[in-house]
Amino acid sequence: MSNPLPEKGNNFIEDIIIEDIKNNKNDGKVITRFPPEPNGYLHIGHVKSICLNFGLAEKFNGKCNLRFDDTNPEKESDEYVKSIIEDVKWLGFNYGEKEFYASDYFQQMYDYAVELIKKGKAYVCHLTAEEMRQYRGTLTVSGKDSPYRNRSVEENLELFEKMKNGEFEEGECVLRAKIDMSSPNLNMRDPVMYRISHAHHHRTKDKWCIYPMYDWAHGLEDSIEGVTHSICTLEFEDHRPLYDWFLDQLEVFHPQQIEFARLNLTYTVLSKRKLLKLVTEKYVNGWDDPRMPTVSGLRRRGFTPESLRDFAERIGVAKSNSIVEIELLEHCIREDLNKRAERRMVVVDPIKLIITNFPEDKVDFMEAKNNPEDDNAGTRLIPFTKELFIQREDFMENPPQKYFRLAPGKEVRLLHGYYVTCTDFEKDENGNITTVYCTYDPESRGGWTNDGRKVKGTIHWVSATHCIDVKLNMYDRLFTKPNPDDVEEGEDFTANINPNSVQTIIAKGEPSLRETKPLEKYQFVRIGYFCTDYDTNENLPVFNLTVNLKDSWAKIQNKN
Ligand code: ATP
Ligand code: MG
Repeated sequence: MSNPLPEKGNNFIEDIIIEDIKNNKNDGKVITRFPPEPNGYLHIGHVKSICLNFGLAEKFNGKCNLRFDDTNPEKESDEYVKSIIEDVKWLGFNYGEKEFYASDYFQQMYDYAVELIKKGKAYVCHLTAEEMRQYRGTLTVSGKDSPYRNRSVEENLELFEKMKNGEFEEGECVLRAKIDMSSPNLNMRDPVMYRISHAHHHRTKDKWCIYPMYDWAHGLEDSIEGVTHSICTLEFEDHRPLYDWFLDQLEVFHPQQIEFARLNLTYTVLSKRKLLKLVTEKYVNGWDDPRMPTVSGLRRRGFTPESLRDFAERIGVAKSNSIVEIELLEHCIREDLNKRAERRMVVVDPIKLIITNFPEDKVDFMEAKNNPEDDNAGTRLIPFTKELFIQREDFMENPPQKYFRLAPGKEVRLLHGYYVTCTDFEKDENGNITTVYCTYDPESRGGWTNDGRKVKGTIHWVSATHCIDVKLNMYDRLFTKPNPDDVEEGEDFTANINPNSVQTIIAKGEPSLRETKPLEKYQFVRIGYFCTDYDTNENLPVFNLTVNLKDSWAKIQNKN
């Protein structure tokens, strides 16, 4: 079952691939890869790259490798590897039998480096980091040749072997490519290929003490795996000549590097360095804090794989950088949850409603659809009793004209319940409403009558005698500014952290919520979409606010 070749692509990368297939380049094969460095958890920016790379493989009957670019032992760990695997699988992508690791190619890369030395294209350089910076020049000033540049092949081979064998200290020397110190492209001014590090690697342990630099390693990883289209973000455009140079010198399989614009999102930071800072300095409770833009944070917040894939599709793929409004992401999850989230009633800031003509001990079980958007979601029974809780904001002593909720003498519909009419109310010594008294109409069971009577307002409720306490984590944006990096001199992005990004409240919920399990999704009617937290328990179910009900995306689009 293979997909037919489309006439035209959905973006410029697809156009390139379609041309390549038509020209039978690489025998018409398409192999992509997603190459995270295991130095942090995946975030929504990575989701864009994952959807793109796996999506291309699917569309063009190819395959996409999950490859760990694990060439910096100081910052990498197994914890990150595990989380990345989990996240890619959760997003619903299939990378075949195994993951790939750059560290599996260390020997091969070393051999390639030896080959370059033999060709007179690489040398061991003993300049200090500071000297190297000076010799490098600037955009306007040409670089200077290192005094070690013309070492003989034999000397270089010997020194490089010593580097590998641990005979030098960290920083004492490096292996550099011998290209052109006067190139207008700084990346081509004899870039470093290997550095010395005596750090412990999470996979190769202490086998190596030299580690390949990104530009040297990445093209080789792609080449070794037979990747046909190596897709990366725009910052690497200036590195492409170097990517090509290494592969050309070695005369090995040569993938094509293609750059696209990375995702930027308002009110969000998407750099692993910054996310790590949020975690280590405890601005949030770990990588999977529901306020984090990480995949694990979004999952805990209540996002679904489908909503994230939908988001990736809608933002598209382009060649110039832009910033996506976070409201679009919220719109995607709202649309998805509207279809899949079961409805429940939860009352925040409760006041009592007593139905004076309702029998004292009667429990009337009302049948309610779990999801009006999905008949397969079934129904549940909600206990209706004489004493209920409603939301404080759903009653007003002196309502303005268009207030259709409860007020003295007014009739409202209790959702899935009955029509009730307010007859009286009570206040405490501070003037706060404590109790509202109503009568109910027994003919209106289920929330409707057949006498053509119009009741405009509908409010929700829970039984005061059967409800349970639930904990709600009400999340707001983690940053107060659309661009968190918009700071005064001397400050960093943490200056824009929203001090009220989470508020925890205890609310009254339907008894059916007692059995909830982590990651279950709900719409608490009239309040928002929620997801059960990992910390939930039978005595106190805990829910995270995923997103409120009001969609501000359309408004933003009209404005633009
Ligand atoms: P960060 O800047 O957050 O540290 P990175 O690029 O260093 O990210 P990697 O683990 O190297 O992180 O990234 C793996 C892949 O994900 C790369 O191909 C990279 O281009 C892509 N990627 C990272 N961030 C984004 C983003 N914001 N939008 C799209 N793709 C991204
Ligand atoms: Mg990186």
